[in-house]
Amino acid sequence: MSAAEARVIRLLMELRRAGVTDPRVLGAIERVPREMFVSSAFSDQAWENSALPIGCGQTISQPLVVGLMTQELRVGDRMKVLEIGTGSGYQSAILAQLCRRLYTVERHRPLLKEAEQRFKALRIHNITFKHGDGSRGWPEQAPFDRIMVTAAAHDVPPALVEQLKPGGIMVLPVGDESFQDLLRVTRTEDGMDIHPILDVRFVPLVEGIPEG
Ligand code: SAH
Repeated sequence: MSAAEARVIRLLMELRRAGVTDPRVLGAIERVPREMFVSSAFSDQAWENSALPIGCGQTISQPLVVGLMTQELRVGDRMKVLEIGTGSGYQSAILAQLCRRLYTVERHRPLLKEAEQRFKALRIHNITFKHGDGSRGWPEQAPFDRIMVTAAAHDVPPALVEQLKPGGIMVLPVGDESFQDLLRVTRTEDGMDIHPILDVRFVPLVEGIPEG
């Protein structure tokens, strides 16, 4: 076994011990080359269980958080999924392995451009992306079976709940800069059910798009 293969296996074992047990999720993490989603300065740390900087003051999430969020989302292979906060595109690539089509929105254009190139290089063809403010969701493409938000909002954004199908699930971090809860929200006939999963630390969900 090469050193690179050993690093992948070590990470998968660590994730499994920490509660990521769904073989589809572990399989997706094994297949998506995380080193392609970080700058070359960090490629030797790509298979460590840590968040890393990706430019524009943003971060690629820790693999454990990606694994747990993806597992909690309970994605099926016929589903239409919305992701808010494309960032490096790593979480998008993982979700794209598990669903029929992924729609992803990012407010920093340079990050979106880089992510787009990665999807092309990896021949991932079931991702549709958009530059914009994801706190409003993607009304033209709604409703969605699943929604994942990878930046922290102060409250559950009502526009996103509205764009979920009845019975649909959204996973998102909610809270302020210092304390956030990762929530699983299920849309019901007359509102939503909220189930806390764990404490997390994400960059904030920011409304509007940056100048320039
Ligand atoms: N899923 C990403 C994590 C990126 S960090 C990955 O795997 O790399 C969160 C991302 O959310 C950042 O890129 C940030 O720019 C983006 N973001 C924050 N607020 C947003 C908003 N209102 N609309 C769209 N993207 C947003």
